[in-house]
Amino acid sequence: MIKVENLTKSYGNFQALKGVSFSVQKGEILGFLGPNGAGKTTTMRILTCFFPATSGKATVAGFDVFAEPHEVRKKIGYLPENVPLYLDMPVPDYLSFVAGLKGVKRREVKKQVETIMEECVLTHMSHKLVGELSKGYRQRVGIAQALLNDPEVLILDEPTIGLDPKQIIEIRKLIKGLAGRRTVILSTHILPEVSMTCQRVIIINEGRIIASDTPQNLTSKIQGENRLLVKVDGPSSEIIKNLEGIKGVRKISRKEGGNGISQYVVDSEKGVDVRREIPAVIVSKGWGLLELKPLEMSLEDIFVKLVTKE
Ligand code: ADP
Repeated sequence: MIKVENLTKSYGNFQALKGVSFSVQKGEILGFLGPNGAGKTTTMRILTCFFPATSGKATVAGFDVFAEPHEVRKKIGYLPENVPLYLDMPVPDYLSFVAGLKGVKRREVKKQVETIMEECVLTHMSHKLVGELSKGYRQRVGIAQALLNDPEVLILDEPTIGLDPKQIIEIRKLIKGLAGRRTVILSTHILPEVSMTCQRVIIINEGRIIASDTPQNLTSKIQGENRLLVKVDGPSSEIIKNLEGIKGVRKISRKEGGNGISQYVVDSEKGVDVRREIPAVIVSKGWGLLELKPLEMSLEDIFVKLVTKE
């Protein structure tokens, strides 16, 4: 549905995108994750024909964003980071106005606005002015305006920024419900957003894509080593010394402690399983083994690892 090949974008002497390539399948929700300034908005603006790339190629539903912007715009709904909302307009009037701008046929506007308001759970806000809505509901109006031309592709730039936790959950649920029939790209610098909402994630940093996979595969691929959490009742320095002596153990860090009980994170070399040796050593010393479990790296650990490596 979306194909991006070797996109670059320069602002004067500064190169914001340095050869970005990726594709998005029909019906997929793709998370575009990266720290501030990574190039997310720049990529989205190129895809939505807001401005051209310096070089490279991008197509949406088979149409070239440079050569056929009118066709591309028909296929895309865009929620920019700051939606230009008219605060003194009633919600249905604002949406009807945008529908007109987007070329929805006059006789279809009313029905289309009703359908989209229902889909975005806005119907009960029909009597309100946009300016009277909470931030979460304003964001729903922003998403609704992006949907008015019934686009196949939905591009959402930081859709949950500035919302409270309850509103975030509701907007994520709404986005998930919109996918399937539509292809969604969602940019974010917030990690849980991608693991909760997206089927695939692209990590971008300093204008380059540094990883692309499902959140689960990224975790297992990049983890590279086995990590265990061990909770022991005993003297810390002795425990660390003895566990470090086990063959294959690479690194031990103490997490927290109190009353003589501490948690240790044990990293072992790839392919080496130390789950038998650890209890044997602890028991032989007469310490208490209270817990032993594998630890998965979170997407956050992976993100930091990738971005720092860069
Ligand atoms: P993100 O959306 O990931 O935060 P952006 O795509 O907005 O990143 O920006 C990427 C880089 O390009 C940043 O370093 C930013 O400062 C720079 N940039 C963005 N827009 C402009 C512009 N209009 N002029 C000059 N530099 C810009």
